[in-house]
Amino acid sequence: MTTKAFASQADLQEKKVTFSKLSDNAYAYTAEGDPNTGIIVGDHAVLVLDTQATPVMAQDVIRRIREVTDKPIRYVLLTHYHAVRVLGASAYGADHIIASQDTRDLIVERGEQDKASEIGRFPRLFRSVESVPPGLTWPTITFSGKMTLWLGSLEVQLLQLGRGHTKGDTVAWLPSQKILFSGDLVEFDATPYAGDAYFKDWPGTLDNIARLEPRALVPGRGAALTTPEQVRAGLAGTRDFIADVRARVEAGVAAGKDLKAVYRDTAEFLRPKYGHWVIFDHCLPFDVTRCYDEVTAYPDPRIWTAERDREMWAALEG
Ligand SMILES: [Zn+2]
Repeated sequence: MTTKAFASQADLQEKKVTFSKLSDNAYAYTAEGDPNTGIIVGDHAVLVLDTQATPVMAQDVIRRIREVTDKPIRYVLLTHYHAVRVLGASAYGADHIIASQDTRDLIVERGEQDKASEIGRFPRLFRSVESVPPGLTWPTITFSGKMTLWLGSLEVQLLQLGRGHTKGDTVAWLPSQKILFSGDLVEFDATPYAGDAYFKDWPGTLDNIARLEPRALVPGRGAALTTPEQVRAGLAGTRDFIADVRARVEAGVAAGKDLKAVYRDTAEFLRPKYGHWVIFDHCLPFDVTRCYDEVTAYPDPRIWTAERDREMWAALEG
């Protein structure tokens, strides 16, 4: 038996970037399952949603933005705190970095550990990691529940619709165009990362997104969904994956199995259905570990450190 390379360390193949136009105001920077960046163009300013992992990687987003508008990039939204989405923020020179208060609380509590952990997991996504300024990415504006940003005549609602991928998840919603930017709450043809998740809450949060009836949706990973049918498929795929992990883990715990046995069972059960999704092998050990924690003794996600990542991997994959 060969040992699986840790997390995404064996994933070194560059992805092809697509810059999709959803409307005159909404664009998606996607890359075959790598973390996406959303772009909202208002009357006088641009809002960037999730930044890429490093300032050097963010330069490619800026280059694409400059192909469609010369308006200044004044706002960055962090949909949640994960390093792979926030550490490129300084490249945009924005006036304001916006996040939910819950996201800021997570940056205070575990931002340093998450930075070290994610840099170890994703060597390809942290290209030119030396361009990340020292310290962490801090929001300059925080909100709880709902905040409305008026980009001239364009209304942008920033909404916390419930916990799911993390405690602080925020979506951006253009009510006049029914376009939604979900962050990692929704993935498409990519495995949801649930190492910091709330399994019990996530499906209900997806129902809250569905209730808005988006006609287009930019997921956290995967192609932009540009029809209501595609949006429904993206929501259903994510919901099914989370429900399937939880059901298998609950059954294993009820049967008195330990984490390693539960992981083996769950991986075997899920692989035929989801094994072709991007980063399946990377995510599953983290997802099952978090779900096992939630079902047993830890209502809130424990902090991942670079060391805990390796110990968990050795225990489950060794
Ligand atoms: Zn994330």
